[in-house]
Amino acid sequence: MSGQDWGVHWFRRDLRVAGNPALQASFKKHDGRVVGLFCFDSKFLSRPDFSHNRFAFFMETMRELAAELREMGSDLWVVDCRPQEAFERIVESLKQGGRPLPATVSFNRDYEPFARERDAAVTEWLQEKAGIRVHTERDHLVIEPQEIGRPASGANFYQVYSPFAKRWFETFKAEEFQERIQAQKKGLALLRARASGKSPEKVFNLTWKKAWAQAAAPFPLPPGDALEEFIAQNRKQVTIEIPRAGSIAAFERLNQFKSALDSYGDQRDIPSIDGTSKLAMFFKNGSLTPAQVIAHLGLEATPLKSDRGPTKFLKEIVWREFYYSILWHRPDVEKTAFLPHYADLAWENRKDWFEAWKEGRTGYPIVDAGMRQLKNTGWMHNRVRMIVASFLTKDLLIDWRWGENHFMKELLDGDLAPNNGGWQWAASTGCDPQPYFRIFNPELQSKRFDPDGTYIRAHVPELADLSADEIHLPRSPMIDHQAQKAKALALFKRPG
Ligand SMILES: Cc1cc2nc3c(=O)[nH]c(=O)nc-3n(C[C@H](O)[C@H](O)[C@H](O)COP(=O)(O)OP(=O)(O)OC[C@H]3O[C@@H](n4cnc5c(N)ncnc54)[C@H](O)[C@@H]3O)c2cc1C
Repeated sequence: MSGQDWGVHWFRRDLRVAGNPALQASFKKHDGRVVGLFCFDSKFLSRPDFSHNRFAFFMETMRELAAELREMGSDLWVVDCRPQEAFERIVESLKQGGRPLPATVSFNRDYEPFARERDAAVTEWLQEKAGIRVHTERDHLVIEPQEIGRPASGANFYQVYSPFAKRWFETFKAEEFQERIQAQKKGLALLRARASGKSPEKVFNLTWKKAWAQAAAPFPLPPGDALEEFIAQNRKQVTIEIPRAGSIAAFERLNQFKSALDSYGDQRDIPSIDGTSKLAMFFKNGSLTPAQVIAHLGLEATPLKSDRGPTKFLKEIVWREFYYSILWHRPDVEKTAFLPHYADLAWENRKDWFEAWKEGRTGYPIVDAGMRQLKNTGWMHNRVRMIVASFLTKDLLIDWRWGENHFMKELLDGDLAPNNGGWQWAASTGCDPQPYFRIFNPELQSKRFDPDGTYIRAHVPELADLSADEIHLPRSPMIDHQAQKAKALALFKRPG
């Protein structure tokens, strides 16, 4: 490679520098001369599942990333158009200016149906039309869906969690995957140095000229700073306090969680305890990855059945990979039921009931607590996600897609694969779902998982003075659980 070769790294869901595989590969190849590109098409702002809160968190992450790249002498170009258009504009401007095109465009792979199509089209254009090499790496998943293989008999991909997890654990032990985890330790060391305040220049041992990236800008970027414009445009619609974002914040969160890891198995189901990692929101935009978490916590593929906190935690990460695998093999689940015979269930879909559920006004304290936690903080505990999802589908007889869409609007960790998986699990329409006849009783769930009512009191202040015995009881409930349960059973017995 000549001294002037340079690369563009296309950021999508990998918003960090330390331990970013495709970015690092490009840095290495081009001796540090790599600029970041992020394409945001503002039409996304009007998508039905768009979340202003999650977008604010995303943009804050991007701000951190941009500052880090600029301190390193690189840059982050944020443009308001579709990626292919962005690349076309870049190539066109460079050609007009008689300047060299980037030798490489790098990115980390994405597994969502829309992203797969987009990436294939952009790759084809870059390679075939522009003659630019494309370099991709794995980042978002520890084991990619096509690496898991197929079950010995039956379907051509794993559709049940337990055999998938068994296979995942076996695969994970292989040298190739262990080496990748080991490699993440280097990225973590860089992150640790950054978190302790060392400047990126020192941490990343930079040797190239500082102003290089700014000088490399192929065209006058959109007037002003597009990133700041997006942030300002979105700010008015933000309804919650946005947590600290970025890879340093994620790393600190991981370190906090470390002390809770051993008790994770016992505490993860109790919503009043801060016993889970709250890392999903960082996984979503890639400020930290599951592989980095596994490396940092030293998680190992111990026997699957173990009840130890670290194993339980790793098994949750495997649930995430399971749902990504399902979405990979069955991209249609984004729109329809995994189980075809439940694709056209005759949901009642009462809009007034949906509104009451969204607002946390159902009269079932644990459901209302969950929905208010979501509305006020952008996060909801997993146990309560299961309870409110069951309530919406089996008690209110509302289509799981309505709930899925609402969660996408509200959750900071809203992510197509696990969200769709979670909803289809609760609605009994998914792969390896909750059997349709097992319907959560919200009062019993409340007594079991929030026995003294601490969680309910924290989120439903009007019930705060009730005793532990009284607090779980429905108050002016909008429906009768037993009557609705009978209707739900009938609905599932006569699908379509
Ligand atoms: C109806 C419903 C909707 C959901 N929507 C989402 C979503 O949009 N995005 C999302 O990341 N998770 C979703 N989940 C899964 C789970 O609730 C969240 O991942 C978890 O609550 C996030 O909090 P945490 O990071 O503290 O999890 P932890 O308990 O610390 O778990 C560690 C990690 O494992 C993964 N994980 C944990 N539980 C699950 C699970 N049941 N399924 C898949 N992965 C899991 C997450 O990546 C999580 O960060 C949903 C679950 C349900 C029942």
